[in-house]
Amino acid sequence: MEINQKQKIIILGSTGSIGQQTLNVCRRLDFEVVGLSCFNNIELLYEQIKEFNPQKVAVANLNLAVKLAERIKNVPQIKTEILYGDQGNIELAKSACDTIVVAIIGFAALKPLLAAIEAKHTIALANKETIVSTGKYVLEQAEKHGAKIYPVDSEPSAIWQCIAGKKQVNEEINNVWLTASGGPFRTYSKEQFDSITVEDALNHPVWSMGQKITIDSASMMNKGLELIEISRLFNLAGSQIKVIIHPQSIIHSMVEYIDGSVIAQMSMPDMELPIQYALTYDMRLPMPDKPKINFAELGQLSFEAPDLERFPALRLAYEAQAEDGAMPAVLNAANEIAVQAFVDKKISFVEISTMVESTMQKFRHHPLYRSILLDDILAADQWAREYTELLITQGR
Ligand code: NAD
Ligand code: MG
Repeated sequence: MEINQKQKIIILGSTGSIGQQTLNVCRRLDFEVVGLSCFNNIELLYEQIKEFNPQKVAVANLNLAVKLAERIKNVPQIKTEILYGDQGNIELAKSACDTIVVAIIGFAALKPLLAAIEAKHTIALANKETIVSTGKYVLEQAEKHGAKIYPVDSEPSAIWQCIAGKKQVNEEINNVWLTASGGPFRTYSKEQFDSITVEDALNHPVWSMGQKITIDSASMMNKGLELIEISRLFNLAGSQIKVIIHPQSIIHSMVEYIDGSVIAQMSMPDMELPIQYALTYDMRLPMPDKPKINFAELGQLSFEAPDLERFPALRLAYEAQAEDGAMPAVLNAANEIAVQAFVDKKISFVEISTMVESTMQKFRHHPLYRSILLDDILAADQWAREYTELLITQGR
């Protein structure tokens, strides 16, 4: 990529935490935003349309599309086409661009992601749930269509940066160190976990993120999803992925090579860096407005082993990774439902992992347990959502 070439960017999920930070990167680099989408936050989408005047946007349904059209019809210079529903999102995902950023939360990102792959796009992928659930299929499709997938999540981005330029990556890697901040409950005793509220769980010590990933960070399911994500993206065995708590969140992950040398990627914790790195096709461009690490001020970086007893989500993710088949999809689907139930105050924080574990346990006797076919994985995802809902309504 030429530094002075103006890149055309589409952002799916532009009203979310990653979406908004991606727009900051586009402002910094003066990239052209040609497409935006959101679920239902049309107020913010309207502001984004006024600023970036994209060619197309997509929203969840016709009703929202009509409301948005009403808002923009009075702004004469705006010629944005408004799409809606599944079809609209897919059409947007296939539209011409240099990079499409997939920053939709959860499994809902799958259809637009597959559409972007079919269109042979370069994809900056923030969404981790799709790779966890259907990673092999998604990556095979990307390979088949010649679509490139660049990670945006800070840990896979760190690993990507640590192996930059390497050709025989897998033969040379011993393991990776996947760092975790430990979240707000790192120092809580097992007893304290029983009284965790939604407000406590939404109060992350380092990162400011969307609601679902913040709860996942508190339970450490986020790290669990990431270990599966990383195993898929970099073709690593579960035993090669070592989770390590690093509360300062300065090291975003590390690669240990066979000679014992460890390469770490470090920066101040700020998602704009991995987003920018993915948007500039692994080139380095300045971020003059961002603070840099001052090691003397930091004084020390600390590490501790994760406690799988207080954070069972991590153990469940290791199990799902090892079992493979449709189990990662079941883990993810059960977690999406349980997190929503916790946010809705229907279950306690501890029950999120209990529900996921019970759903996984039940699934081990299901005929689709070992299947790796996409349709079966989609069916397993649906089954897990319904089963977890049932557990929640039964109060177990
Ligand atoms: P968020 O909840 O802040 O934003 C989600 C975006 O997706 C919004 O624009 C929303 O309108 C859109 N959306 C939600 N449901 C949708 C649906 N059914 N169809 C279409 N669009 C829909 O989420 P976020 O924190 O920005 O996270 C986005 C993704 O990036 C997640 O998969 C998350 O795991 C990943 N991620 C986030 C961070 C972070 O710092 N926030 C870091 C690493 C990875
Ligand atoms: Mg991450």
